[in-house]
Amino acid sequence: MFPVPTSLSPSRVDAFTNCPLAFRFSSIEKLPEPPSVATTRGSLVHRALELLFVSPPAERTPDRLEAALETALDEYRALPDLVDLGLDGAGMQQFEAECRELTANYLRMEDPSTVREIGLELRLEAAVDGLTLRGVIDRLELDEHGGLVVTDYKTGRAPSANFEQKSLGGVHFYAFLCDQVFGQRPSAVRLMYLKSGETITATPSAQSVRFLTTRTRAVWHAVERACTNGEFRPRQSALCRSCAFQRWCPEFGGDPDRAAAEAGVTAGTTVTTGTTGTTGSTGSTSTDGTADTDGTDGTAAGLVRV
Ligand code: SF4
Repeated sequence: MFPVPTSLSPSRVDAFTNCPLAFRFSSIEKLPEPPSVATTRGSLVHRALELLFVSPPAERTPDRLEAALETALDEYRALPDLVDLGLDGAGMQQFEAECRELTANYLRMEDPSTVREIGLELRLEAAVDGLTLRGVIDRLELDEHGGLVVTDYKTGRAPSANFEQKSLGGVHFYAFLCDQVFGQRPSAVRLMYLKSGETITATPSAQSVRFLTTRTRAVWHAVERACTNGEFRPRQSALCRSCAFQRWCPEFGGDPDRAAAEAGVTAGTTVTTGTTGTTGSTGSTSTDGTADTDGTDGTAAGLVRV
């Protein structure tokens, strides 16, 4: 009934798990979703940090980060991600102030001149059973022993301890992709929560990487089944409040089969789910507020929260 996607990313796995119907709207029917302040702010701050790390280590000063943020703001002023937010003067001032606060917090969390990065905004993919798994790594670096470290910037809230494991699903995904592409499992995956200044560091294990493939296969089979029988069930949650597809959701009195026509979209014939997250000028990911894949598996990577 629906074309089956040929690739999955952490955010798409997460989207299907959160609400299969919203997944259908966004990943199968490709209905447009208006940008939000949170996603645009996240993409823009990712871009500023990417620009910072293009500079040689000794030049990664606060002034350089300020200049990188200005460049990112200039880039975004021409993009629908920011334009379509329709911010007035005061709204724009607040938006810029929030971006500055996140980058200022970043500088309190680490000294960028000490980072030995080997890749920025790295797009990785690997095949599992004919399915392509894709992810974008904000920053890949080397630790003091030459091990790979994945750093993922988060601009939303840090998860509470109860939901920490859920937020770390992407860790397994990144670890799996590094294992496949570089033949080396990362020694650590760091989630830097720029809002609160917290860093959660996970140590992926062989078991957690294996579990990723098992879990992704299971989600994949569920996606295939839903595409075949057309049953993408709505799953109500707190996410409904910000769902762009509420008007077509039966939980809110809507008709899903009217969505594509009313949104002015012709159902796609070739479907590949996007790489993670929203895309700004950099194709950046992890703009959160949204989680990555969930990793509530009991085979979690070891965690350290600071
Ligand atoms: S409103 Fe809620 S239940 Fe309906 S599609 Fe959106 S997230 Fe799913």
